[in-house]
Amino acid sequence: MTLDTERPGKAPVSSVTALIQVEHLSRVITSRAQKTVILDDLTFAIPSGSLFAINGPSGSGKSTLLNLLTGIDRPTSGRVIFSGEELRARGEDALARWRGQHVGIIFQFFQLIPTLTALENVLLALELGGGGGLPRKQWRERALTCLEIVGLRDYGRRLPSELSGGQQQRVAVARALANNPPVLVADEPTGNLDSRTAQQVFELLAELINLGKTVVYVTHDPQLASRSTAHVTLLDGQIVEQSGAQAALTSQEGRS
Ligand code: ADP
Ligand code: MG
Repeated sequence: MTLDTERPGKAPVSSVTALIQVEHLSRVITSRAQKTVILDDLTFAIPSGSLFAINGPSGSGKSTLLNLLTGIDRPTSGRVIFSGEELRARGEDALARWRGQHVGIIFQFFQLIPTLTALENVLLALELGGGGGLPRKQWRERALTCLEIVGLRDYGRRLPSELSGGQQQRVAVARALANNPPVLVADEPTGNLDSRTAQQVFELLAELINLGKTVVYVTHDPQLASRSTAHVTLLDGQIVEQSGAQAALTSQEGRS
């Protein structure tokens, strides 16, 4: 979508195709003793179709930022605009439903349900996310298709404990794809894998942009970060470097 004009009542849309636009985003945690600024006035854009890295050392605020992008956490100030719509405007239940349809999440420690087979883990995501617009009778085929995308169509009957770490993370990718979301987000998705397996799982994630997905991944590994098509680098909650992530703000409020 390309719009240069202000749309009354709606969030401004930049003239660049930004899938996710972050404007003056801050997250501050206040306890009795002190105020901790975890993210400090971040403004950037995630282009549609990008392989987008959020990188920086441990403790720089990467996971906090990812949780704000997916609406799991709420900003102290500023906003996240997703496909032209501000996340904050939604209530908790609506936000959870929205997340199920729009975002596939991949975790460092896979988080598969240990008592369910690979296929059942993917089917559960369809159940929880509403099936990506497909009628229920097509869910099984959809789940198998997702396992096929990650190279595990023949492994559907296995329990997570019967799969290697790399295979478990592939199942988690299949699960993230289940409802056909436009965006996949992954927090250190290869952080728990040996380097060869990590490379293979990363290649799989990188290939998802060829399916039209936008892939946002967090890493503290400079080598993986260098594979991105756009990135921001965080240090102590601030952007210290970026490429391809320039936000084109159109609102008065956004101009500074
Ligand atoms: P990263 O993912 O880059 O390692 P995080 O986003 O997890 O960084 O955390 C950034 C900083 O914020 C760290 O110093 C962490 O200790 C602090 N932090 C994160 N969450 C909380 C919280 N709920 N309460 C207090 N400090 C927090
Ligand atoms: Mg983290």
